[in-house]
Amino acid sequence: MSTIYDSIIIGGGPAGLCALLYLGRGLTNSILIERKGIGGLVSSTEHIENYLGFKSIDSFDLIEKMKEHALEFAKDSIRYDEVESISDFDKEIKTIKTSDGDEYKTKSIILSLGTTTKSINVTGEEKFVGRGISYCATCDGAFYKDLEIALVGGGNSAFDEAIFLTRFVKKIYLIHRRKEFRASEVLVQRLKDTGKVEFVLDSVIEEIVGDNKVSSIKIKNIISNEVTEKNISGVFVFVGQNPSTSLIENTPIKLNNEKYIIADMNMHTSVDGIFACGDVIEKNVRQIANAVGDGAIAASEAIKYIQSL
Ligand SMILES: Cc1cc2nc3c(=O)[nH]c(=O)nc-3n(C[C@H](O)[C@H](O)[C@H](O)COP(=O)(O)OP(=O)(O)OC[C@H]3O[C@@H](n4cnc5c(N)ncnc54)[C@H](O)[C@@H]3O)c2cc1C
Repeated sequence: MSTIYDSIIIGGGPAGLCALLYLGRGLTNSILIERKGIGGLVSSTEHIENYLGFKSIDSFDLIEKMKEHALEFAKDSIRYDEVESISDFDKEIKTIKTSDGDEYKTKSIILSLGTTTKSINVTGEEKFVGRGISYCATCDGAFYKDLEIALVGGGNSAFDEAIFLTRFVKKIYLIHRRKEFRASEVLVQRLKDTGKVEFVLDSVIEEIVGDNKVSSIKIKNIISNEVTEKNISGVFVFVGQNPSTSLIENTPIKLNNEKYIIADMNMHTSVDGIFACGDVIEKNVRQIANAVGDGAIAASEAIKYIQSL
């Protein structure tokens, strides 16, 4: 008979890794399934400066430390595969199927699916992905040495990434649809101090223009409706995230209007035995610190649930 796991975690970002650590220490028979690379969104930035205990840490070092720590208590427990479906919601033993054709049976599930980057949905964006459009400064910043680029966004992530990009680029046009930023004042000032940024406020990109790669953008001022064109070599987009919940749409797991999972303060979803944690749940702050906290709660509750069966 195939193994029946105590718990299966789907998603190997900080939330999932912390859940794995707790499930391992709880001596459960649990695994984590990750579709890309361990670390989730943390790998899309260079340094982390706001995770308690580390004044500044390279993101890849932090991921390695988290992975090593989790595996210390849950040896050989990571599988690389994409979960495609969950079924048997009303049964004590639930079923998970993956894109490699594997089927897993488990008493409980922890959804730490995280989010993916939102696009700006303008003409040219899709066409030029990888040829001038990027969603990851760490991955692509070095390609824009001494060039002028545009960056879209006004939150902490956008400013963090803009500051990182100033190492390479000659100038950044930071385009934001409002006059005020959501980013913290510290980051706004730090970016200004580089002397490499020009803010283009109350504005949106209307079109991304180019032949084989991006050569310019058309920017519309949303107050005056005036459209101007700027020659740039690349566009970095940081306008927020979408929850990775397509897998559980139209299932008994309740989602909010924006398709984030609705979980209570103990990370219980609307289905018995299914827990959710990290950026994928409905909440206001999405950071490593609370993703890890959620993961600890979800795993502790899953352990209680398994014991109650
Ligand atoms: C540019 C940027 C900079 C940031 N900087 C900071 C910062 O400085 N400090 C900070 O605290 N936070 C920062 N954050 C936020 C932080 O990265 C997130 O809060 C954190 O990664 C959330 O962890 P998570 O585990 O919930 O989700 P994620 O890190 O998104 O991990 C989810 C994982 O689930 C996997 N997955 C999804 N669906 C499936 C499936 N069907 N099958 C298998 N695997 C699946 C994904 O591949 C992914 O690896 C930043 C985010 C961005 C985008």
